[in-house]
Amino acid sequence: MATERTLSIIKPDATEGNHIGDILAMIEKAGLKIVAMKMTHLSKAEAEGFYAVHAERPFFGELVQFMTRSPVVVSVLEGENAVAKYREVMGATNPAEADEGTIRKAFAKDIGENSVHGSDSLENAAKEIAFFFPTTAVL
Ligand code: ADP
Ligand code: MG
Repeated sequence: MATERTLSIIKPDATEGNHIGDILAMIEKAGLKIVAMKMTHLSKAEAEGFYAVHAERPFFGELVQFMTRSPVVVSVLEGENAVAKYREVMGATNPAEADEGTIRKAFAKDIGENSVHGSDSLENAAKEIAFFFPTTAVL
């Protein structure tokens, strides 16, 4: 196993619900180290750029509107197998299918407003870290 870095976003539904601290605690309890972090209110252009891979999906407009609704907390997480480990801590995209003990099970409302983002591969993690933290090493 290798030390990796991955990108996390605590989404608007979770910042609105005052769940930032609880979610960061779940991340740290899972053994992931927060190595960079900022709170920011995404512009439409930033949300569209970050989610460009989903531009053709039917929910793209809804996703951009949601992600720009309130501030988000963006962080870089580091640890053994960090990409897969954080996806485990997050739980399934649809909270109705998320396992007990996961962030989405605890806080997410539905498949759209699902509290957190996490990179889905090492390659995308590097791109997403560079998008938000251009001076932070991707490892
Ligand atoms: P994940 O965030 O688990 O990697 P995806 O990459 O498939 O999931 O989707 C990106 C984000 O788009 C989701 O986290 C969610 O906010 C939103 N999304 C995905 N599927 C839907 C859907 N069917 N309806 C509305 N929003 C969706
Ligand atoms: Mg994804």
